[in-house]
Amino acid sequence: STGALPARLAETVAAAYERYAGLDEGVVADYIPILAEADPAHFGLVVAQVDGAVHRAGDAGVAFSIQSISKAFVFALVCEAIGHEAVHETVGVNNTGLPFNSVMAIELNGGSPMNPMVNAGAIATTALVPAATPAEQWELVRTGLSAFAGRELALDGEVYRSEVETNQRNQAIGRLLQSYGRLDADPLAVVDVYTKQCALSVTAEDLAVMGATLADGGVNPVTGARVVSAEVCRDTLALLASCGMYERSGEWLFEIGLPAKSGVAGGIVAVAPGKGAVGAYSPRLDPAGNSVRGQRACAYLSRALGLNLFAST
Ligand code: GLU
Repeated sequence: STGALPARLAETVAAAYERYAGLDEGVVADYIPILAEADPAHFGLVVAQVDGAVHRAGDAGVAFSIQSISKAFVFALVCEAIGHEAVHETVGVNNTGLPFNSVMAIELNGGSPMNPMVNAGAIATTALVPAATPAEQWELVRTGLSAFAGRELALDGEVYRSEVETNQRNQAIGRLLQSYGRLDADPLAVVDVYTKQCALSVTAEDLAVMGATLADGGVNPVTGARVVSAEVCRDTLALLASCGMYERSGEWLFEIGLPAKSGVAGGIVAVAPGKGAVGAYSPRLDPAGNSVRGQRACAYLSRALGLNLFAST
């Protein structure tokens, strides 16, 4: 990890925040009822570097549920446990081109969960968390994601309960995977662990440190603890590049050129391998489910800091 970020980083983070703080496009998600109560004004932007420096702007410490961003880190933990080949075979690594909770994507592909960043693949991935019971799986997920964040993360019980009341579609996806012989576990128990992982409470700063751990080859740059191997980081970032930003993953990569993952509560993590990561939070979303301010701020930072992975200069 050599490529340091420019010295003007703190100013650049502040400038990105200022530039988009007034933007009020997009709508707060409401298909999980409690998410509709988020304050649409909140906007937090944080960059964490692989040398452990952290730059914060705005609502960097406001808590929200991690939602789909958990998929990236649970995938990394499972990839560490079962390896590159097994992940490729059992979960898949190709973009669906369809919404994150698509049942059609499973049907069109002979029962394959397709990739770990859509709900079907994430549920299949959570089923592979190596523990004897769902309660132990949940504890491994919680402590594993806490190691990425460098602090103890906890469940947001209100978000969890709101989603339990409304996650019939995810339960159906679990059952469908089971019917195809793709889930070697009780589907409803797995979906419950998945629902809990989505309801973990994080901040933009947590996301930045979690992403910086992937950027740093699996070592948390703040705590110094190794969380996963460098190979697992490489595999995880490849999946984020192709599948991390819902149906806009191609547009995101085209404009911003960084592996990233977003969640419907309004979080985004974008990773610059060997350099650091951006954590953003703003609950107003575009139609695909990506935070509007978060995307704009990431695009600004990628340009201003020269982070696009496909640029040769
Ligand atoms: N818990 C949400 C779901 O499974 C996550 C959605 C998301 O952030 O994309 O529907």
